[in-house]
Amino acid sequence: PSANFSLEELDKLSLFHPVTSIADVQKNGPLIYAKAGGVRMRDHHGRDLIDLGAGLWCVNVGYGRPEIADAAAAAMRNLSYYHTFGGASNEATICLADRILSLLRERAGAGHLARVFFGSSGSDANDSAYKLIRYYNNLLGRPQKKKVISRLGGYHGVTYASGSLTGISAYHTAFDMPIEGVLHTACPHYYRFGEDGESEAAFSDRIVADLAAMIEREGPETIAAFIAEPVMGTGGVLLPPADYFAKVQALLDKHDILLIADEVITGFGRTGQWFGSGAYGLKPDIITMAKGITSAYFPVSATAVSQRVWRVLEEASPRMGAVMHGFTYSGHPVGSAVAMANLDIVERDDLVAKTAENGPYMLRQLQARLAENPYIGDVRGVGLMIGVEFVADRGSRRAFSAGLGPHRLVARHALERGVLTRALPFIDVNSFSPPLSITRAEIDEGVDRYVTALADAMPALHTLAS
Ligand code: PMP
Repeated sequence: PSANFSLEELDKLSLFHPVTSIADVQKNGPLIYAKAGGVRMRDHHGRDLIDLGAGLWCVNVGYGRPEIADAAAAAMRNLSYYHTFGGASNEATICLADRILSLLRERAGAGHLARVFFGSSGSDANDSAYKLIRYYNNLLGRPQKKKVISRLGGYHGVTYASGSLTGISAYHTAFDMPIEGVLHTACPHYYRFGEDGESEAAFSDRIVADLAAMIEREGPETIAAFIAEPVMGTGGVLLPPADYFAKVQALLDKHDILLIADEVITGFGRTGQWFGSGAYGLKPDIITMAKGITSAYFPVSATAVSQRVWRVLEEASPRMGAVMHGFTYSGHPVGSAVAMANLDIVERDDLVAKTAENGPYMLRQLQARLAENPYIGDVRGVGLMIGVEFVADRGSRRAFSAGLGPHRLVARHALERGVLTRALPFIDVNSFSPPLSITRAEIDEGVDRYVTALADAMPALHTLAS
C-alpha cells in the first residue's frame, strides 16, 4: 500500500503514465511492481514473482543491493552532477572509463580500445557509434563512406539511428525507418532460416556470401561499418554459427569496413565470459555497452572506440572543432559511482565464472523438461542467455502463423504462475536471462513454475497450432 493511494486506486491510476504496451494493460489489467530483492519481485498485491529476465536482460547482480544504494547516496552527497561541456570530467567517471578499458583489455583481449564516450541508454550508445563513424570518415576525407550494415533480427535500440539499425520491422512501421544509408543483411539463425538439407556450415557460407554481394553491389567505398550483437538477444537468443564472425571479419577487413559490436546485453558477463567479443573472437573497432555497466541501478551507457578511430578524431579535432554530440547526462558522477559499485560485486562474487557454470545448468534443465513438448522446437543458449523457440510442427520446424503468438500466451501463463519470462518480437521465442547471481535452487524453482505454466497453456497451444 502506498502513502498516497489505496491498492484499488493504484490499479485504476496505473494508466496515468501510458506505456507503449497500453493494449496489454487494457487487456490484462495492471501489473504494478512494488519491491524487489535478489531474483524475486513483488507486485503491489504482494504476489511473488521470480524474475527470469533480470528486467530487460540487465539486473545482473540482482535487485536491492545495499552496496550500490550506498554508493549512489554517497555520490549524490559529494558531487550530484558536473558540467559535461568544455572538456570537464569528474573522478568517478575517469575511474569508470579506466576500469571499462582495463576489463576490455584483460578480459576480452581488446587492448586496442582506447577511449570511452558515455551516455545513458543502449540506443544512445549506438547513435554515438553511428555518428563517430561519420565523423571519422569525414576527417579521413571520404564522407561518402557512411552506410552501415546491420542484420535482420538485430536489436540496437529505438531512436532514429539505432532504431534503423534494429532489423525487426515492427520497430520501423509508422516511422519511415530505416533511415537512408542503413542496410540489413541476413539473420544468422540456422534453425529457422537454414534451408532443407543445408548444413550449418553451408548456411553460414551462404549468408556471408550474401553480405559480400551486398557490399559489392553498394560499393565498398560507401560502406562505413557493420554492426552486430555477438549473440542476438531480442532477435531470439541467436548464437552465431561456428566461423560466421571470422568470415565476416575477413570480409570487413578486406573492404576497410569498421566492426561495431553491440554488447549492450552480452557485456559484463551474461555469456559466461566478460564480453561477447572475447567469447566469439571479435576484434571490434567500437564496442557499445549499457545494461550490465550498472545492472540497471542507474542509466549509463558507454561507447568504446579503438586507437585507430580515436587517433583520427584526436588529430583532426583541433582543425574541425568539437564533436557536436554529447548528452546532459554523459559521464554522470552518480552513474559512474553506481557502475563502480556494481562491477565490484560482479568481481567479488565471481559472477562471470558462476554464469559459466549456472547457465549450462539452467539450459540442461530446460532442455530436459521441455524435450517432450510438441510445440518447442529448439532450446538454446550461452551463459545465462537462453531461448525457447516455439513451432507449430517440430518435424518440419514450421512456425506458428504470423501474429498468433504462442510465446506471448505462454509468457502470460508464466506470469500467472509467478515467473517472468519475455516473449520476443522477431520470432516466437521466450527468453530467459535471470540475474547472474541466481542460485541453482532458484533456477529449479523458476523452471518448475515455467513448466507448470506451459502445461496450463497446452490446450490453447493445440488450438493455435490446428
Ligand atoms: N542494443 C541491444 C543489444 C539491446 O538489447 C538493447 C535494449 N534491449 C539496446 C541496444 C537498446 O538499449 P536501450 O533500451 O537502453 O536504449
